[in-house]
Parts: sequence; C-alpha cells; structure tokens
Amino acid sequence: TGFAALGISGQLLKATHAAGFTEPKPIQVEAIPAQLEGRDVLGIAQTGSGKTAAFALPILSKIMALGTRRRPKTARALILAPTRELAVQIEDTIKILAKGAHVSTALVLGGVSRFSQVKRIAPGVDFLVATPGRLTDLVREKDVDLSDTTWLVLDEADRMLDMGFINDVRRIAKGTHPGRQTALFSATMPQEIADLAKGLLRDPLRVEV
Ligand code: AMP
Repeated sequence: TGFAALGISGQLLKATHAAGFTEPKPIQVEAIPAQLEGRDVLGIAQTGSGKTAAFALPILSKIMALGTRRRPKTARALILAPTRELAVQIEDTIKILAKGAHVSTALVLGGVSRFSQVKRIAPGVDFLVATPGRLTDLVREKDVDLSDTTWLVLDEADRMLDMGFINDVRRIAKGTHPGRQTALFSATMPQEIADLAKGLLRDPLRVEV
C-alpha cells in the first residue's frame, strides 16, 4: 500500500515517510507509476494537489538507481517553473525527498548573481530548477549545455505562458536530450499549452485532478 505500492522503495521511501507523506495523493497515484515506466505525463493540476512529489519521486528513484554516476553536463533533470518562489519551493521539496542520498540540486533564477549560479552548475548536477528567462540567457551564453538532460518537467505551464516565457520554454526544451522523458503540469489547458504539450510530450498519460 501507500508509496511502496506505487514503486517507491529503499531510502527514497524512508525519506518520503519522514517528510510526512504516507498516503499518496490522487495525482501521485496516477503519475508516479507511469513515470517509473518511462511514460510522459500531462497533468492538469492545481497548486496543493501534490504535483511536486508526483514528478520529483519518479525522477529521484531513477537517478538514485543509476550506479556509478558520470557527471552530466549541467543537469540530469531540469524543472522549469514560472516564479522564483515556486522554483525555491520545488528545490526544497526535492532536497527533503532526497535526504540521505547523494543527489545534487541547483537553482537558476533571475535577480540573483549569475556568477554564483554558473559556478554551482559548472560541474554538473542531478536536478536543476530554473525560471525560463535566466536559463535562456545562460543557454545563449553557452554557460549551460542541456544535452545530457534526460528528464524535463514544466511546472505551472499556463503561468509560464501568461508571463511571456513560452518561446524561452520551447528553446530550452529543444536543447535537451532528444530521448528525454517529459512531464507538463498546468492548472488550465488553453490552446497554446495544448499545442506546447503536443510538441514536447510523447503519448503522454493525461491525469486530471
Ligand atoms: P504541491 O501541490 O506539490 O505544492 O503540494 C502541496 C502540499 O501538499 C505541500 O505542502 C506538500 O508538502 C504536501 N503533500 C504532497 N504530497 C503529500 C502526501 N502524499 N501526503 C501529505 N502531504 C503531501
């Protein structure tokens, strides 16, 4: 039962329970097994639905299962979020769920010193959580190489659209590994987001909570 029945095990299961997550939320019940099987996910979900753990747990599970890990260029997993506040929250959740495991995380946000961010990601990290504007700058300046990024998550895609980030999102996605696994979460599904999802997701499981 619980997260174990969804395919979460070992240290990750322990950290999940330690975080106070014992009963999976509906979006987690649907999205976690699908992503563990390698499927893309299109999630129509609001803040508070538990979507962060729904995408973080399967990626963490897969990253933790990699044996000796060669350092990736920039990042193995990229999470794009519309605001600095949300990006910080996502990184916090990932750190809590990754407790006790050797998993590295980094943030790339606007309004913060570029230099310290570039220095942090230079050796390559497991998870990069970023806002699209600043990340686009770093891609353009070749401080970021996403060719080893095999997991991509777009969180609150409709808000990224509203904030004018849609072209940055497309450009960033284009630079990631072509065989990547992708998840897109959005509270609403305007035509632009449906089109974006069509271009970026392969046969996604559609989850609506
Ligand atoms: P999110 O929608 O990811 O922002 O999550 C909303 C809130 O629910 C956060 O405070 C999470 O810590 C919490 N949460 C997520 N999943 C669970 C769970 N399975 N059990 C209890 N709390 C959870």
